[in-house]
Amino acid sequence: MSAIRSALVIGGGVAGPVTATALRMAGIEGRVFEAYPGPAYNIGSTLGFAANGLAALDVIGAGDAVRKVALPMPRSVMSVGHKMIEMPAVAGLEPLQMVDRSDLHQVLHDHAVAAGVDFAYDKRLVSVEEHADGVTAHFADGTSATADILIGADGIKSRVRTLIDPNAPAANYTGLLGFGAYVECSVDVPQGTTFFAFGKNAYYLYWALPDGRIGWGANLPNAQYLSMSQARAIPAEQWLRTLRETYAPDTPGGEFARDTAPEDLAIVGGLHIMPPVPTWHRDRMVLVGDAVHAPSNSTGQGASQAIESAVQLARCLRDFDDPATAFATYERIRRPRVERIAARGAKINHGKTMGPVMRRAMPLLMPLAAKAMKIEETMRREQSYVIDWDATVNERAELVRA
Ligand SMILES: Cc1cc2nc3c(=O)[nH]c(=O)nc-3n(C[C@H](O)[C@H](O)[C@H](O)COP(=O)(O)OP(=O)(O)OC[C@H]3O[C@@H](n4cnc5c(N)ncnc54)[C@H](O)[C@@H]3O)c2cc1C
Repeated sequence: MSAIRSALVIGGGVAGPVTATALRMAGIEGRVFEAYPGPAYNIGSTLGFAANGLAALDVIGAGDAVRKVALPMPRSVMSVGHKMIEMPAVAGLEPLQMVDRSDLHQVLHDHAVAAGVDFAYDKRLVSVEEHADGVTAHFADGTSATADILIGADGIKSRVRTLIDPNAPAANYTGLLGFGAYVECSVDVPQGTTFFAFGKNAYYLYWALPDGRIGWGANLPNAQYLSMSQARAIPAEQWLRTLRETYAPDTPGGEFARDTAPEDLAIVGGLHIMPPVPTWHRDRMVLVGDAVHAPSNSTGQGASQAIESAVQLARCLRDFDDPATAFATYERIRRPRVERIAARGAKINHGKTMGPVMRRAMPLLMPLAAKAMKIEETMRREQSYVIDWDATVNERAELVRA
């Protein structure tokens, strides 16, 4: 049993609640401190959950609650112009599950609360103070909290990352702005299929909802970086004009853009990718989730990787007495896997921002590229990862499986 008894978990998005729940299972009290005023606040859009993410959620007993609010997508199709390429399904693996982001946050929050996790809102971490036997977090509202360790689950713009290492890299802008919407339109889209579409000017994805609406997400190339709040400062009507122009040559993207109502447009802002972070932990502080490995939304693995890391971190803290060994082992288990997935995401992003010549060549190149990228093998490696919670952490064995 670990000598570590308590943890401050900074961030109540995806990784935070999962980390705190897994810590409870490890006999460690994790309290979550979130900057926003409540769970599922100020977020929109949908994310796709891969089989490995759900398997990691099963470890903390939250998998079925997420499946209950999710939509399974057994088929994936890539489209370039009018060419449709069926993506190989990996036999024996659970299909992709689409989940509304607010639903996901709420489910993870409720599950953590039921497990006994305490959440504090309106708590923006500003600084930390380290002691020989603990760490104190100071929040923007003047309050503070102390525990044995502090875990930064505070997302892509992590404050904890720079508190651990002032020279830590920041996330890179992919050159794409994210948008999402549920739209009522007459386009006939089969149920249970996610379409990943390389349009003439921009990439988008879409799927059918059971109530007849279509869910769609747009990745709009934009040279200028805009944060979520900067993008939201521009009226939705104005964004829709740009989206309609951009997707006008595409079928069915043009219809989705045309039929989306301003009030239904979720504006995400600049999409990021995290370069490798040299320092994952220092003394009594450690990072988890997007704070340390955001592999770009193109991989469909960000949330799943955040959850895997959260569970593996809790296992390491359970099985090692001192934070230094637990954190170092956690990093050794996780770093190779998340960096390989991030590298794959960087390649896909390149495809989303390609010029007109490459775009024209895409229908010919795509099947070859899919073969060269060994998509089925990659999917199997990424998605068949299962964490054995009951096994004592064995650094060597875990490394082989990563
Ligand atoms: C458009 C888009 C589409 C995506 N699609 C997918 C997908 O299909 N599949 C997938 O798996 N992933 C997807 N992702 C990635 C996924 O959303 C992230 O990987 C996941 O949310 C990471 O979880 P996290 O808890 O690490 O960070 P977050 O979910 O960002 O949570 C971080 C939390 O920390 C809080 N916080 C920040 N700073 C502080 C502070 N100083 N003090 C206190 N709290 C703080 C924030 O308010 C936030 O609630 C997508 C991302 C985007 C942008």
